[in-house]
Amino acid sequence: MPDQTAPGNFDVAVIGGGMIGPALSLGLLERNLKVCILDEGDDVLRVARGNFGLVWFQGKGFGMPRYVEWTRRSATLYPEFAAELKEHTGVDVGHANPGGLELLLGEEELAHRQRYIGQIYQQGGGKEYEVEFLDRKQVEEMLPGVGLGEDVVGASYSPIDGHVNPLFLLRAMHTRFQQAGGTYLPHHRVSEVRKNGGAYDVVTEKGIVSAAKVVIAAGHGLRELGPPLGLDIPIRPQRGHILVTERTKQILPMPISSFRQTVEGSIMLGVSAEEAGYDDTINTGTVAKIAERAARTIPALRHLNIVRTWAALRVLTPDKCPVYAESETHPGIYAVASHSGVTLAAVNAKVASGWIAGDPAPEQFDAFGVERFDAQKTA
Ligand SMILES: Cc1cc2nc3c(=O)[nH]c(=O)nc-3n(C[C@H](O)[C@H](O)[C@H](O)COP(=O)(O)OP(=O)(O)OC[C@H]3O[C@@H](n4cnc5c(N)ncnc54)[C@H](O)[C@@H]3O)c2cc1C
Repeated sequence: MPDQTAPGNFDVAVIGGGMIGPALSLGLLERNLKVCILDEGDDVLRVARGNFGLVWFQGKGFGMPRYVEWTRRSATLYPEFAAELKEHTGVDVGHANPGGLELLLGEEELAHRQRYIGQIYQQGGGKEYEVEFLDRKQVEEMLPGVGLGEDVVGASYSPIDGHVNPLFLLRAMHTRFQQAGGTYLPHHRVSEVRKNGGAYDVVTEKGIVSAAKVVIAAGHGLRELGPPLGLDIPIRPQRGHILVTERTKQILPMPISSFRQTVEGSIMLGVSAEEAGYDDTINTGTVAKIAERAARTIPALRHLNIVRTWAALRVLTPDKCPVYAESETHPGIYAVASHSGVTLAAVNAKVASGWIAGDPAPEQFDAFGVERFDAQKTA
């Protein structure tokens, strides 16, 4: 272990102050470890500031039952996680889990969704899977007064789904991190991690930080940092757009996968998926498609002005499932990446952090390593 008293020496250096790094760091601090977060400046790709804010269960884990379990675990831990953040920081992250819907337009979409959800259910070998299908009448009962478009034929529904204000979540995690004794180092872009005796030197333009363990939770930054450290993880960017309407009276009692109403009254509309490399500029054609689908689904939305729109880049693995991996060539260096960093924040803080601290890996982690990508390459 490095000298605990020397400045710049830490038990764990976490690279990345987005959604994943701070969540893991909170759990590490609870285990009385000395932790720093090294983060880049503001002019970089930061998905933590561009996402939709769903804490979403239904549909996750296609082809990977372990991810279904892991997501459920996070959703279950969320109320406690959000309450602790509020108690310590005073920031209400706006977490609610009233259940969630994916509204389906037309029989073809319904049949496709039934096949998809049916496969996730079957891969669980008959274990409980908390997703059901509702017909149009049942959806109307769940969304009283909303006025569904005529193309809506039904929905898939999960009582586990919910949402959160992602910017408040980010603020609360950062506030709590520093309050609990963590060291936040902004404008510390990491260029390299080098072995130095029994520890690692984390090299930044502002100097070197030494740590016994290093966690790469750098979102898209993993692509550059990982390979020299034995963590060549084939993540790629996928562009998603979000539109925000003017504020209106509360009409949505629960989040719908492509709409959610904030506590303040705005309705967020999304979510597209485009392969556009690292281009996060707005595609007006995509914005128009999102607005058109929203109006087909809930015609009253036509009367609301769109006040903001942006695009952000998901951190996507080939199988869309998360990575929790320790390097074989550089023991003590970990990579954590996921395109559901909001949903997994609670389980990252409460459980995954323990694995980095030295607890046995959660049983789900046998599925989340990097070996699976080799298998996928040769398949
Ligand atoms: C349109 C869209 C909608 C989404 N909606 C949802 C949703 O509803 N629910 C959900 O669960 N997830 C959602 N996500 C995904 C979610 O936002 C991400 O999973 C999450 O932000 C990933 O967290 P991260 O910490 O890995 O990356 P980021 O949040 O991008 O953070 C990475 C951090 O690392 C820093 N960094 C990078 N390289 C370096 C370096 N070399 N040195 C130092 N620092 C570095 C960056 O500055 C950044 O602060 C959405 C994403 C998109 C694009």
